[in-house]
Amino acid sequence: MANEIWTIAEQYDGKLKNISFELLAWGRRLADQSKGKLVSVLIGNGVNDDALQHLIRHGADEVYSVQAPHLANFICPSYTAALQELIADIKPDVILAGATTQGRTLMPYTAVKVHTGLTADCTGLEIIDGLLHQTRPAIGGNIMATIKTANTKPQMATVRPKSARPLKEDAARKGNIKHITLKTPPRDLGIKVEGIRQVEGGFVNIEEAEVIVSGGRGLKKAENFKIIHELAKKLGGEVGASRDAVDRGWISYPHQVGLSGKTVSPRLYMAIGISGAIQHLAGIKTAECIVSINSDPDAPIHQLADLGIVGDAFQVVPEIMKRLEQQKKG
Ligand SMILES: Cc1cc2nc3c(=O)[nH]c(=O)nc-3n(C[C@H](O)[C@H](O)[C@H](O)COP(=O)(O)OP(=O)(O)OC[C@H]3O[C@@H](n4cnc5c(N)ncnc54)[C@H](O)[C@@H]3O)c2cc1C
Repeated sequence: MANEIWTIAEQYDGKLKNISFELLAWGRRLADQSKGKLVSVLIGNGVNDDALQHLIRHGADEVYSVQAPHLANFICPSYTAALQELIADIKPDVILAGATTQGRTLMPYTAVKVHTGLTADCTGLEIIDGLLHQTRPAIGGNIMATIKTANTKPQMATVRPKSARPLKEDAARKGNIKHITLKTPPRDLGIKVEGIRQVEGGFVNIEEAEVIVSGGRGLKKAENFKIIHELAKKLGGEVGASRDAVDRGWISYPHQVGLSGKTVSPRLYMAIGISGAIQHLAGIKTAECIVSINSDPDAPIHQLADLGIVGDAFQVVPEIMKRLEQQKKG
């Protein structure tokens, strides 16, 4: 068994996705705890060494690059076969992937093939006495459960996107990029990717947004949510919401922020008429700057906020809009 922590990098069209770097932040911490080696594993095609160096500069000690034309697009059996071969050869201690569409497909498939356990959608990870403690919400988010894979290796987990910020790039960090050629030739799976189409219009991706303006029950009714839309538009951001606002049908579920919604990590998060329940706060822990607007001075959201505005949303938001307009005019 190699004392190696692996993080699975993701690519699309030859470009590394952000989750690759978020996983390295978790992995670096675990590798330091276990005094092991942190390896970023890239399965794909067309990612050049300059791009792979970014993985080193964001915390990896080494990169295992498995690239071939048949791995250009994520096809689960092909990626699993590649990962399975690496695991059999190197026997890592821990493997982390994003709880993304790819990670949530690849990891269970691989865990079954290599006869080990898997914890999905973790929000906390720690190595204690050589064992990976994998923490995730359970029983509908009412408790946080810590799960261990005590009897089999590798210990495998998927990690919630945006649950960690990538480490700062360190241009001086050096590490090896190992290009691995698979021994097993590609099998004819009877699967052919004809093309990839981007979703057009109406696609809400608050997880990637730099600015999010969120509304809650304090807005009182669906029509009032328009002030949230207007402010978000003015700031060039996306609209988020508390679960209460979603449950009332004021806005659709893809906008929900929190434990049973999305985890977000914007530069600016504005919480308007949101009390700051623990389940909502769980989704905004890694936001850089939180501004709360709430009429109750004791609302818990003000405790977490970098700037807490105690006031009526229906007065404060139009005032902010007015000032933004004035600023624009110069
Ligand atoms: C298992 C589980 C999972 C959950 N998952 C999530 C989740 O993912 N996301 C989530 O958000 N919640 C989640 N919840 C629900 C959570 O516990 C809260 O019920 C919810 O976040 C409350 O939403 P809210 O803040 O909009 O409403 P409230 O808690 O009712 O707060 C409304 C706030 O608006 C303020 N207000 C009222 N009028 C004004 C005004 N005119 N101007 C300014 N402020 C005003 C009030 O002072 C109050 O603080 C979950 C709960 C459970 C049990």
